[in-house]
Amino acid sequence: LSDEYLDAVQRFIERYSTEIGPYPYSIFSVVSSPIPTGFGMPTLTYLGEAVLHYPFIRDISLGHEVLHSWWGNGVRVDTSRGNWAEGLTTFMADYAYREDQGEQAAMRMRHGWLRDYAALAPGSERPLSAFHARHHTASAVIGYGKAAMMYYQLRSRLGKDAFMQGIRIFWAEHRGGTAGFDELRAAFEKAGRKDLTGFFEQWLDRTGAPELRIASARIPNAAGTELELELVQDARSNGAQPFSVSVPLRVRTGGSGLDVRIEMSALRKKATIATDARASSVQIDPAFEIWRKLLPGEMPPIFRDVIAAEVVEVVALEPKMQAGVAAFAKAFSEGKAVAVESGPEARALRPLIVAGSKSAIDRYLESLGRATRPEQIEKGSAEVWMAPDPGRQMVVIAIDPAVTNAEYLERLGRRLRHLGSYSWISITEQGTSRRGHWPTETPRVPITE
Ligand SMILES: [Zn+2]
Repeated sequence: LSDEYLDAVQRFIERYSTEIGPYPYSIFSVVSSPIPTGFGMPTLTYLGEAVLHYPFIRDISLGHEVLHSWWGNGVRVDTSRGNWAEGLTTFMADYAYREDQGEQAAMRMRHGWLRDYAALAPGSERPLSAFHARHHTASAVIGYGKAAMMYYQLRSRLGKDAFMQGIRIFWAEHRGGTAGFDELRAAFEKAGRKDLTGFFEQWLDRTGAPELRIASARIPNAAGTELELELVQDARSNGAQPFSVSVPLRVRTGGSGLDVRIEMSALRKKATIATDARASSVQIDPAFEIWRKLLPGEMPPIFRDVIAAEVVEVVALEPKMQAGVAAFAKAFSEGKAVAVESGPEARALRPLIVAGSKSAIDRYLESLGRATRPEQIEKGSAEVWMAPDPGRQMVVIAIDPAVTNAEYLERLGRRLRHLGSYSWISITEQGTSRRGHWPTETPRVPITE
């Protein structure tokens, strides 16, 4: 294990030295610690010994901690206007790892940030300038997710080369010292030759996010080579103050698509887009590239929806599964679990966990008029999924009766509690798992003639 870690540390140090500037220290140690946390300090990182064997710790968390040698330790953080280092480290380590994997993985991470933001309890949001360090989920959503998305948007705006040049300027000027968001902004302004005051003020000092929709979309000429549309920011979600955003749009024309950007800094914006063929539909930000409020259809069910519920109801379709499902619910859910009889859905608003053999599950879902087992799930001896269709939130556990005992189900519940961002999981007899998400698609607005 330690060889793998040494190799990985060396790769990270080489990567960041090339991207930013030479590694500021002569050694780096990884210390396994009984405390389950990653914690970066100059020249060493503590990683919980219980998690060291997970590949994502070596591939992602380790890179994050190594990068803190530059951001946070090499340049210390002046937090008077917020902590710039966590978001930048998340962007250049955790997110960069997904970008290396491909656009699908990168998009999923951006979508995850927006999804976490959408799940924030109303009133719990504070501006990024008030973020100092991670204390609770609400602060992490802003200090890591929103900040990382801010850097993503900044890079789109400046271009990759100017963005990376700004990073190197910032490092060269503040290495060994203390700096805040203002110094970081100045470095990007120098590299990008742009005034970024408004950009930083908007994302640092304000809460809220634009909620975008298309008020109208029509084709004005008979040739069908133009699309006229009006974009609107919902005034309720931004205190009637518009956000300045570069809104990506995907216009479908027959078989192909056209990606354009509309610069918007008012509550309403009209635009005319030239198309090579008649446009049939348009989507707002289909790849989740701006910090914004997601629409309901952009949040297909994931396990966390039920994990975080205050009360869940539990149904065992076979009497001998009762103890097992109760144990599952206790391990899986952060809230209270209440056993109920199957049958009519009395308190149908509460999320439900239902378990049974595969055939019993099929019959149960059919009796409710709900979608039956989605094809996408790979076959396993235990399959757990979030009901994909609208209606009551439901965790469905279809399990081979041969492997059903309370201990197995409790372990399954504990495992799934850490996989809250997924929509389904399938476990083989050997105990390995496959998991996935229901597809997320931004609504397509059809175009009237
Ligand atoms: Zn960190």
